[in-house]
Amino acid sequence: MPEQLYLIIGQIVVYLFFIFIIAIAIIAMLALYYFKTGRSPSPNILLSGLLVLEGHVKAFFRLMGMDDSIIDNVAVQLQNKISSRQFNAHPPTEKAIFFPQCLRSIDCTAKLSPEGIQCASCGRCEIGAAKKILEERGYNVFIVPGSSFVKRMIIKYAPKAIVGIGCISEIKSGMEFCHRFGLPAIGMVLDKDGCISTTLDWDVFYDTLDMGDVAIKSSHL
Ligand code: SF4
Repeated sequence: MPEQLYLIIGQIVVYLFFIFIIAIAIIAMLALYYFKTGRSPSPNILLSGLLVLEGHVKAFFRLMGMDDSIIDNVAVQLQNKISSRQFNAHPPTEKAIFFPQCLRSIDCTAKLSPEGIQCASCGRCEIGAAKKILEERGYNVFIVPGSSFVKRMIIKYAPKAIVGIGCISEIKSGMEFCHRFGLPAIGMVLDKDGCISTTLDWDVFYDTLDMGDVAIKSSHL
């Protein structure tokens, strides 16, 4: 009798293992499909699968010789897609935009204040022009000096929706933080990350905020 029991347990373990492997393969394929087409039969289920099996799906990608950073990008895009309806329901005056300080020029002379880095619109980087346009439309714009700043501003100003720009790890942790606060958040990943002189695709940025008119002009800013 115990031998039969061990046999059944062994079979169950083997079945579960194969189900696990198949689930990883399916999530990986759906993520790749989303990455290539921007389409998913169920963004919520795919995102949940990616969050639960993230490490395994990345390992699967590496095993297949693919770039596992695709998974992080897809996770951010899915979060954006899921948040977009709630996000768009709020006017700009209820939204806060957080730029990372690394997006500034290395010659930036802006001063630090309790409300973040205060841009002097010197024209050495795109933040100055962007801040002016965004504030004219009603957005609350901040340049983030450090990691605890965003949380402090969210508590202080209680925005109803957030736009965060940063490297992929900052965006992912920021979006998880906003999710805990029940805040719809749109994350935009820097084109080139690092500690200084990072870059952002400004046309995509304005398009995402439904400000395509500015996107057309941004190359001339
Ligand atoms: S435009 Fe603003 S953020 Fe950019 S370098 Fe000048 S002062 Fe700094």
